[in-house]
Amino acid sequence: MNTVTVDASRKYQIHIGVNLLQEIGTYIRSIAKGTRVAVISDSNVWPLYGGAVLQSLECCNYSVCSYVISAGEKSKNGENYLKILDYLSQMELTRADCIIALGGGVVGDLAGFVAATYMRGIAFVQVPTTLLAMVDSSVGGKTAIDLPAGKNLAGAFYQPSLVLCDLDALNSLPNDVFLDGCAEVIKYSILFDAQLFDHLSKYGPDFDRKYVITRCVELKRDVVNRDERDLGDRQLLNLGHTIGHSIEANSSFSISHGKAVAIGTNIIAASAASCGICDVTVHQKIREILSAFGLPVETSYCAEELVTVMLRDKKRSNDAINLILPKEIGKCIICPYPIQTLESFIKAGQDYASHRLPR
Ligand code: NAD
Repeated sequence: MNTVTVDASRKYQIHIGVNLLQEIGTYIRSIAKGTRVAVISDSNVWPLYGGAVLQSLECCNYSVCSYVISAGEKSKNGENYLKILDYLSQMELTRADCIIALGGGVVGDLAGFVAATYMRGIAFVQVPTTLLAMVDSSVGGKTAIDLPAGKNLAGAFYQPSLVLCDLDALNSLPNDVFLDGCAEVIKYSILFDAQLFDHLSKYGPDFDRKYVITRCVELKRDVVNRDERDLGDRQLLNLGHTIGHSIEANSSFSISHGKAVAIGTNIIAASAASCGICDVTVHQKIREILSAFGLPVETSYCAEELVTVMLRDKKRSNDAINLILPKEIGKCIICPYPIQTLESFIKAGQDYASHRLPR
């Protein structure tokens, strides 16, 4: 088992290994003094792993209750948030007790926001079961629900007390969901680690899961330790995301997050190459690795359609938007880019990328 320690507003450990679900009761002992545990999960994950978690907790003499939401992003809403708070109070959970988020990023974000606000904050443990949740959403304390006006519009920074990444859980993940996580894994390597990029280029989706997940968690930990509140360096994690979010929204969310991020990463790297911010080979390598994983790299949405949605980004200022641009593999910069010329910058990237596709 590998262990990574986060030293943010709360200090906590992230364990990456196997058989962690079966031993969860013992781990919970180290972080919660109470006798009760509420497990929040979704309708796909609970039937697969709920039994093992329940058994381990009961063996450690916890009284366990569970709340299972329907799988999918639509469940990350205010109605479920309030229903869960209500359920916890009916179960008489106290601040000495703890909440476990067993599932992907949807469960983690929702349960985390519940934990941040129930009785003004109760201990919670992230047990991520998707690749994306292991390398990204379970680490760093961003919790949220969606509002009708948009994604993640209500939330809190609230760090978990423990994260358990059980690699066995990835075996039941649908390939498409695994691929979405791969886009984030590739993102970390482009941002921070050329050696990780080489490993991923060599092995493709058959990468060494323990090494790669641990490395991504360490890289995210380093960013969170430097900038917990997302005011500086943490914005680097948005590589490919500003265009990616626009593609997701333009497609009414029929294109998944990971696929949209892959396309966004290719376009932004092409834009950077087209104006000499990075070498042409940097874009070439990025496009090749995304394609080798089976991720898409192009979109039919034109620059104007992409930019219209990008300008709604909550992180933009009046006259500029922060773009994350690759300089080299393993090194990217945050570049405040003027809004007036954004469309031509994106268009240059799309033209450049399509001319360089192998025919
Ligand atoms: P998800 O939670 O919807 O999971 C994807 C699908 O996989 C679901 O159908 C789920 O039921 C299923 N699933 C999960 N684990 C499984 C397993 N082991 N076996 C079989 N099926 C399984 O999606 P996700 O990609 O994990 O997370 C996306 C969410 O994460 C979004 O809401 C996004 O906003 C959020 N997010 C948050 C952060 C953060 O820092 N908090 C970062 C990135 C993304």
